[in-house]
Formats: sequence, structure tokens, C-alpha cells
Amino acid sequence: MLELKNLDVAYGRVQALHDVSLSVAGDEAVAVLGANGAGKSTLIKTAIGWQEPQRGSVHFDNQDVTWLTPWERVERGMALVPEGGRVFRGLTVQENLRLGAYRQADEQAVGSQMETVFELFPALAERRRQVAHTLSGGEQQMLAIGRAMMSDPRLLLIDEISMGLMPILVQRVFETINDLRQQGVAILLVEQNAYEALNVVDRAYVLENGRLVLEGTPDELREDQRVKAAYLGG
Ligand code: ATP
Repeated sequence: MLELKNLDVAYGRVQALHDVSLSVAGDEAVAVLGANGAGKSTLIKTAIGWQEPQRGSVHFDNQDVTWLTPWERVERGMALVPEGGRVFRGLTVQENLRLGAYRQADEQAVGSQMETVFELFPALAERRRQVAHTLSGGEQQMLAIGRAMMSDPRLLLIDEISMGLMPILVQRVFETINDLRQQGVAILLVEQNAYEALNVVDRAYVLENGRLVLEGTPDELREDQRVKAAYLGG
């Protein structure tokens, strides 16, 4: 469904990605693990179209989308949950969700998609008129995922959802990701939190200094000495 081919991405003279190629099938959840500054956010931004590559391509549904805008990619079925799940803190839950469907003018369609999201996240339904900054950190992250789900995507790109969350909430957010995945949404997530990420994905890659250095199933990666040392605390 998603294929990144030989991507080089640079910010001026700082090259953030070197020859990165990866794929996500339609029924898959895939993680990219990496430390601070490894290039994880750059990878997600390039996939959604916030960042242009110097070389390489992005394919979605076997079509080259490398030069499409982010909103054109959203129309084709991709959606983004930004780093740390940023939401509009001064807006209500409903207003945040409405913004996730900003291209949709048909209010009836928006309303029915919002009900679908509320079914996924009953805690948000109860708080639909609450201003986002009064939600807990975990609920704000759920709202960010819910907002991305408003465009009814087939592929979710998730940038470090666990950032700044207490461990118990991290676990809850990953359970949610697992639920979405069971419902047939393909997922590409980038994470420093390897332990939780490996529990919900089918495959994972390791990104170091802008290069993919390993790929495997969660079991294979958990057994890898380098992964153990760098990402799983020994
Ligand atoms: P983090 O977990 O800290 O967000 P990351 O793995 O997401 O890290 P990126 O944010 O993709 O990493 O950054 C990769 C490299 O590109 C880093 O060296 C970073 O300093 C650099 N970089 C990122 N954004 C910019 C920018 N806008 N201008 C210049 N350099 C940048």
C-alpha cells in the first residue's frame, strides 16, 4: 500500500535520510524504531508530503505520490497523527474532530464519521463538548488519533505517539492502535518506545543516523543484541 523507495532527504547541508526504502502492506502495522534525531519525524513528514525528498519516491496504492500535497494524499486515504498527538487545545473535542474532516463539506457525512470515531473512543464521546486542554494526556492522544480517523483513512502515519505520556497511558494508546489495525487500517508508526511498539506491529525497521540498519519481525528484533542494548534497556 505504501512504498518509500531510496529516499534521500536533507535540510540544507544536514542530510536526515539516506537511501531509505520501506513498505507497508494493506493489512500491516509497521514500526520504525530509532533514537532522538535518527530521522523518524523526517520519514513520516516525507511520507505525508510535508517534506520533499532530494531523491527517491513515495508510492501509495501503486501510484507515485511523491509530488502530491499532503491534502491530496489525505484524499487518497493517508492520514497523519503528528508528533506527540498535537491537538488544538483551545477547541472542543468535537471541533478538533471536525477539523480532521476539513475537506468534507457534507455535514451529514461528517456527523456520521464522527459517530464512528466516538464508537472507537467512548471516552471522547462523553467529553465531546469539553475543551481539549481539559483532557488528560492520554485522552488528547486519543483525540489526535480520532481526528486523523475523521478522513476515514486506509493508512495511518503516526509520529511518536507515546512522547510525554505516562507508561500506563502509553499502553492504552497502543491498545487503541492495535484495535484500529484489527479493523483493517494499515499503520506506519515511528517510535522511540520500542517495547510497546513491538507489541502491536507485524514488522519493524531500525533507523540509525538516517539509515535503515535492520528489519525483522518483533520476535527477531527483540532477540537482536543491538536492539536490546539500544532500545530495550539491555
Ligand atoms: P526526535 O525523536 O528528536 O524528533 P527524529 O528521529 O524524529 O528525532 P528528525 O526530527 O527527523 O529525527 O531529525 C533528523 C535530523 O534532521 C536531525 O539531525 C535533526 O537535527 C535534523 N533536522 C530535523 N528537522 C530539521 C530542520 N527543519 N532543519 C534542519 N535540520 C533538521
